[in-house]
Order: sequence, then C-alpha cells, then structure tokens
Amino acid sequence: MKSHGIGISPGIVIGKALVFSREKIKTEIRRIPEDQADAEILRFEQALSKSISQLEAVKRQFSSRTGESHAYILDSHILMLKDKMLVDGTREMIRKEMIAAEGALEKVLDEFLRVFAAIEDDYLKERRSDVVHVGDRILHNLSGHVQTSLSLLQEDVIVIAHDLTPADTMQMDRNHVKGFATDLGGRTSHTGIMARSLEIPAVVGLGNITSCVQSGDPLILDGGSGTVIIHPDNETFNRYLEKQRRYVYFEKELQKLTQVPAETTDGCKVRLSANIETPGDVCSVLEHGADGVGLYRTEFIFLNRSDLPGEEEQFQAYKSALEMIYPEAVTIRTLDLGGDKLSMQIPYLREPNPSMGLRAIRFCLVHQDIFKAQLRALARAGVYGNLRILFPLISGVMELRAAKNIFREVLDDLHREGQEFREDIPLGAMIEVPSAAIVADMIAREVDFLSIGTNDLIQYTLAIDRMNEHVAYLYEPLHPAVMRMIKYVISVAKEAGIPVAMCGEVAGDPTYAPALLGLGLREFSMNSVSVPRVKRIILSVTLEESRRLANRILTLSTAREIEEITKEYMRSRFPDEYEWDSNSES
Ligand code: PEP
Ligand code: MG
Repeated sequence: MKSHGIGISPGIVIGKALVFSREKIKTEIRRIPEDQADAEILRFEQALSKSISQLEAVKRQFSSRTGESHAYILDSHILMLKDKMLVDGTREMIRKEMIAAEGALEKVLDEFLRVFAAIEDDYLKERRSDVVHVGDRILHNLSGHVQTSLSLLQEDVIVIAHDLTPADTMQMDRNHVKGFATDLGGRTSHTGIMARSLEIPAVVGLGNITSCVQSGDPLILDGGSGTVIIHPDNETFNRYLEKQRRYVYFEKELQKLTQVPAETTDGCKVRLSANIETPGDVCSVLEHGADGVGLYRTEFIFLNRSDLPGEEEQFQAYKSALEMIYPEAVTIRTLDLGGDKLSMQIPYLREPNPSMGLRAIRFCLVHQDIFKAQLRALARAGVYGNLRILFPLISGVMELRAAKNIFREVLDDLHREGQEFREDIPLGAMIEVPSAAIVADMIAREVDFLSIGTNDLIQYTLAIDRMNEHVAYLYEPLHPAVMRMIKYVISVAKEAGIPVAMCGEVAGDPTYAPALLGLGLREFSMNSVSVPRVKRIILSVTLEESRRLANRILTLSTAREIEEITKEYMRSRFPDEYEWDSNSES
C-alpha cells in the first residue's frame, strides 16, 4: 500500500515502523495486602532508578550531539525524580493507605499539581508540565509499558506519528530514527526544517498514515518524492534498493564539492552559507563547506526545557558558534518564539492564531527582559568572532527602530558596567512580512543588511498556513507575487549599497538557484546538507543564462507557468539530478 504526502527531507529509507503516540497511562487505586508494602515500595524505587538512568542516558546522547549547553535541559527532571516530597511522599502513601505504587504516586502527583495551580506566578505555574512529564515516565516504568520516547531507542526505526513538534524532532535519537512520516504538517514547518538539518528523511501531510501502519510494519520512505510504502512487495523493494544506492552515490559525488568555491562558469561569485539551530550544528556547516552561518535560529535553545536560558548560557552558546566558524560570519537571529515554536515556560504564547500573534520581534518588544538578556549575550559574544545580528518578523520601520533602540540601551548598560562587548555589530532585518517587502527601501536605509525569509514571506503573501497540509498545495514559491517581491528587495538593497541574503527554504532548493541568481541574489543561506547541491548547480551555469531565465519568469503570470519553465530548464541542464528527485515516481 502506498501513501503520498509532502517530502520535506530527502533520502530513501527502508525499515520498520515505530508508531509514536503520547498516550497517557491510566492508573487506578489498587489495594494491597499488608505484608506487601515493602515489596511495593521496592517496585516504586526500581521504577525511579530506571527513570533516572533513562534520563541520564538521554542527557549523555543529547550532550554529545548538541554540546553541553543543551544537555542540562534534563537536569531538572532528574532532580524532580530525587525530590524528597515526591519520593518519601509516595513511600508513605503506599504504607499509610496500603495501595499499589501507581495509585500512591498519582495521589502525590495530584497534590504537587494542586500546589502549582495555586501559584500566582505564570512562570512557576508552567512548571507543572514538568511534574506531568516526570510522573508519566515513572508510571510507564512501573507498568512495564515501553514509553515511546524518541530520544532513547533500541533499534533502527521509521517513526510514524500524527504530528511532531520541533521539540520532538530535536530530541530524536539520530542513531536509530532513520526517517519519519506524519499525518499533519506542511513543507516549511520547523519540524521539516529540523529534519533537513538533522539529515533525517521525512514525509509529512500524509493524512492518515497513523491509522494504516502498526509498529513493526515494514516500510519504504522516500523523502524526495514524499512517498511511504507499507508492506512493499519484492519488486518494489528491489526498485527502491536500487534508487537508494543511486541516491547514496549521488551524495558521495556531491561531497567532492565541499572545498570548491561557488562561482558560475562566467565568474560570478556566490556565497552559500548555512542555517543552524544549535551550536552543535556547526560541525555539519564545516563538513558541507558552507560559507559561514547565514541564519542561526536561536529560539531552539528555549525548547525542551523547564526553565528559561539566561544571559550566561546564551553567551556561551553564541561564543562557541562564533569561534568555530571564525573567520567566516555568523548571522544570529534574535528570538523567533511563537508560531510552531512554543516554549513550555511562556504560556502567553498559546494563542488562537499563533503565526499572526505575538511572535518573534513582537514578543521581544513586549517581553524586553528576555530580549535584553539575549542582546546582552550577543553583544558580549560579538568579541569572539564575526557576528551579525538579525531581527525577525519586522513588519515596518517602527518595529526596527524600537529593536535598535533597545540594542543601544543594552550597549550603554554593558558600557556602564565595564563589560567586554563589541559595539559595531552589523544589524539586519528579515524581510518575511509582505509589508516589510513593500517598504524594503525604507528598511534598507536603516540597517546594515537584509535577509529574505521566504518561508514566512510565502505564508503571509499567499495567506497559507505553513504548517497546514490542507493548503500545502497552495505553497507556491514561484508565485509571481513572490518573485516580484524578491526582485524588489534585492534591487533596493543594491541601491542602498547593503548586502541581501535569502535564508528561507527556497534558497536551499537547487531548482530555484539559477532563477534567484538571475534575479540578482548573491548570498543564499540553507540547511548545510543542501549547500553542495546548490553549489553543483551554480558551478554549471552562467550568470547570463540565469538572467535570461529570470527575465522570462518575470513576464509570466502564473506560478504553474513559472514552475514549468523552471523545471524544463533544469531538466534539460541537469538530467541526472532530476532523475532520482522526480515526484512522478510511481
Ligand atoms: C523564513 O521565514 O523564511 C525563515 C527563514 O524563518 P523561519 O523559517 O525560522 O520562520
Ligand atoms: Mg520566518
């Protein structure tokens, strides 16, 4: 049986399914005979130790992958597992009420939750999610249920889920999660972006894959064409094995390009930089030969944790990325929380329409304490490398000025305190809201650089929720409105004499590279894995032919026509690339 969705991260995997769900264990109060209290307490203690070892193993895996800065995310959960009130409270409850450990634990957890609910402070109130999380883990271990945690797996799997948050994706055990497929999701969701950066082949928007697959089912997942095949027959299996072999060969060939500078055959130099989510991603940036970091999405340090990262922790993370990438530049974007990136600690982000809500710079301008801590960390880290600061979701000049004023205040504070910091850090604005694109000339006069965020620019221009699979068919990067905006933003940056980059997913799709080059783009920022793919295209074209293609595109009035012309051009110029990446695979 075959299911088609949206291929968001390329690669072919053949393996066994693991259906992931966050189902809660149901507990009931069970009376125990008097002589069993000690045995029951022992059972509880064993479940506790098992929970602690599990979390410590996750922490070890996590720190080797992403650096120490993220590892202690799990510390507060480990501490909670050793908490006197929880541990002694449950022991006493078993003995006093003569009930089984599950029920006793549930009673103690209820008491914890009641205390949290009565707290006025929103921040502390939110820590109740930690209690629920920790409680679930102990209950799973008590009941002998295998908890479907994606961060600690015993064998290679293809994860099947109704939906995955960016936080779930971030925690995935990369040694064992070979691919994933979800019912929900759109092309430029942050879950997709994480999958590409973790190099995990993935398909989203499959509708009902969770009801068609059971854990253990054999599967083929093709992240390029967006196909999932359940119980493949021998012929299909062999065909995909061959396809996988060709894909791997193609990837190896691409690796040969890592040290080659990106330049067209008629000598136009192009910067291909990388997008990262954590300092740990820097290794991949270097391996794939990217020209520095064009977008560091700092909000990921706020996910999967029970507290807010402070200035010092952020300073260390930025410093380490800057030092590793030096002398190349690192463009660090200030917090873009909201939308699909929700922190457990910030309850006010739960809005009915989060992508139109208090997101990114809007959130930072309201919660200036959080913003200032980040800006202080950035200004201090600026001493250690080649830093540029980028403000997200700017909708006009007012917001930009407000952000710049706060930055100035922060610099004054640091100066007064006698701290070491860098004063002349270039400041840039993301152009990802249509209003900003329309007044990009005015914005360009007040910044040192621009960066076009096509994921949001497309979402807001075409009015399609980037996470919603029902409108994914309307996601048209080549819509004439989008093409015009890109062209306009590039031209005003040129007039203002400032650099302009593109850091949305469009920049990392080799299909669009010649057209963007022809529109005047010279700096592309993308997930590291795409750098050699885009480079291969840049190395084979001339600026002249790219300009011809762009001029032709600008005369066309529908996305369909532009897509046809672009794909026809790419197929004729790069037949090999389009053989394995074809969406027409049956
Ligand atoms: C974008 O919107 O294109 C972008 C790069 O930002 P993000 O995907 O993080 O919203
Ligand atoms: Mg964006």
